[in-house]
Amino acid sequence: MQFGLSIIVIKWLIIKKYNPCYNTLMKHSLLEILACPVCKGPLELKVAAEENGEITAGSLRCGKCGVEYPITEGIPDLLPPEKENR
Ligand SMILES: [Zn+2]
Repeated sequence: MQFGLSIIVIKWLIIKKYNPCYNTLMKHSLLEILACPVCKGPLELKVAAEENGEITAGSLRCGKCGVEYPITEGIPDLLPPEKENR
């Protein structure tokens, strides 16, 4: 669902722009606005490395469809798997 993904990204960008508390990288609080771009299910955060409340490495896993999205250098990669052309 391209449309759903755009909404999530736009929402995130707006929050990052207008709320100084969100102006950095992946945080626990960001989980509340993120949803699986494939099925809109809730995402489960797995933290591999954390610094000052920001998750610098880890993954977001969908509890519904099981797709896992990596977080690298604090940026969650929420591309649906079918778009990656692997
Ligand atoms: Zn899902």
